[in-house]
Amino acid sequence: MIGLIFGPPGSGKGTQAAHVESVFKLSHLSTGDILRAEVARGSEIGKEAERIMRAGDLVPDDLIIRIVQGILRDPNVSSDVLLDGFPRTLEQARALDEMLAKEGHKVDFVIAFVVPEDLLIERLLHRAEVEGRADDTREAITERMHEYRKLTAAVLDHYRNAGVRVIEIDGVGKVEDVFERIRIALDQAK
Ligand code: ADP
Repeated sequence: MIGLIFGPPGSGKGTQAAHVESVFKLSHLSTGDILRAEVARGSEIGKEAERIMRAGDLVPDDLIIRIVQGILRDPNVSSDVLLDGFPRTLEQARALDEMLAKEGHKVDFVIAFVVPEDLLIERLLHRAEVEGRADDTREAITERMHEYRKLTAAVLDHYRNAGVRVIEIDGVGKVEDVFERIRIALDQAK
């Protein structure tokens, strides 16, 4: 089972992905978390990614595709995965489809959060005070929102056109209420 989870920055995607991981027994792979770990380790990839991420821009497709390829090929990684933050561009989506097709797999479902932008900005500025993430400045937030709007719609259309179920989830409300919406949608999808 391969699921994708999409949501603009601040949509609560990471929190919900953790719940989906434990309830539906999928391993949650977040490319944002992977990149932040590389930055923290000071690896070559981390050095390349740090400046780009700080500005709220996307790292190059080939870099992130190589990282995901390495993980999906790893025999220790379960074949039931929930990908979070990838694919973000059409190029990445095509690369993912190709990687999966080689193993006889495909994307089974896509979850996409819908949250009004003013609420997202409010949540992110609050998170900036609490967590101090390097890309939670007003400028980087605006840039990340812009990237998301510009690119994600095309990726969602790509999967809709391929006949993959794209489940839109209203991301406004309490964490448990939002998760309940996801649970119902995924149970129906089985
Ligand atoms: P958010 O959704 O809150 O912006 P993520 O944790 O998913 O955050 O990603 C943080 C940053 O990591 C992105 O702004 C981007 O610079 C980089 N990144 C993560 N995933 C990708 C990807 N698939 N392609 C390119 N850049 C990525």
